[in-house]
Amino acid sequence: MIDDPRCPVCDASEWDLIGARTYDRAAIETADEYVQKRLRVLFEIWHPGKEHVENRSLLCGRCGFVTYAPRPSAADLDRKYRFLCSLDTDENQQQITPERESQRAARLWKKMSRFVDRPGMRVLDFGGDDGRLVVPFAEHGCDCFVVDYAPQSVDQVTRLGATLDDLGEEERFDIVVCSHVIEHVADPHETLMQLRDRMTDGGAIYVEVPMEIWKQPPLHEEPVTHVNFFTVESLRTLLQRAGLQPLSVKLEDYPHPLGHRTVVVSSIARRVTGSPPPVEFSGAAGTRRLLTPPFTTRLQRALLRPQDLPRAAWHQVKRRMSQ
Ligand SMILES: [Zn+2]
Repeated sequence: MIDDPRCPVCDASEWDLIGARTYDRAAIETADEYVQKRLRVLFEIWHPGKEHVENRSLLCGRCGFVTYAPRPSAADLDRKYRFLCSLDTDENQQQITPERESQRAARLWKKMSRFVDRPGMRVLDFGGDDGRLVVPFAEHGCDCFVVDYAPQSVDQVTRLGATLDDLGEEERFDIVVCSHVIEHVADPHETLMQLRDRMTDGGAIYVEVPMEIWKQPPLHEEPVTHVNFFTVESLRTLLQRAGLQPLSVKLEDYPHPLGHRTVVVSSIARRVTGSPPPVEFSGAAGTRRLLTPPFTTRLQRALLRPQDLPRAAWHQVKRRMSQ
């Protein structure tokens, strides 16, 4: 575990402490099965012998990214996956329904279909489990591939291996999908650079991550599932530092495969020839607005879900009347 990490987005070490949470080993006894397994990773794999672990939530002053410390290294995350794999099947998989998954696939196709302009384009789903998210691309004449630790892929998608290292030197892709992957990895900058190297010139990449910073630091019930917490600004910085040209980076309402609604940062970027794009460092102000949202930030968030607006507006009215 790394007690004093550098920012995995911008490489700075200008952290602001924005919160802390202490985890107790005793909570393993009372937690539900999903949380219980992750707390076992925390206390049996990452901090063996400890009864309590304090995680500090850290905000990068240069790019607005948030993580916690002590932060797991790549080797710690590898041990986490080995441990979780040694336990039972993934409980999440049992609750994901085909209807929700095809909804997600259709949503992705709608965003990225404009980049499909000839038959036989090569599409890579990186970290996409069995590749089900890119099935609509296959149905529209693309050659679709997946790289994931999951051993099986759906019929329309060819599995190329567990990691990018399993691919032949010459393998390149016109479209890359990296959806809900980089919030889990030790070095998201390295991951995106590796993907950039696998893209054709002019190729497009879709990157989506959960946006979990809202009114409080992201110190969840268990700190094992996600280790990276992005904002619009820090994801844009990450794409640029990986040599990609962002076309859009924005907040969106998202139908989570487990049924609830959440907010994500969704982004589309291209690999461009010539000199790399300039890198913008937005500082921490945008993230601070998410932690203590002023009215405009709350309104922007409410507008992500127009279906909830009447209720949100009524709450505003009641709040103003009671002042
Ligand atoms: Zn940073």
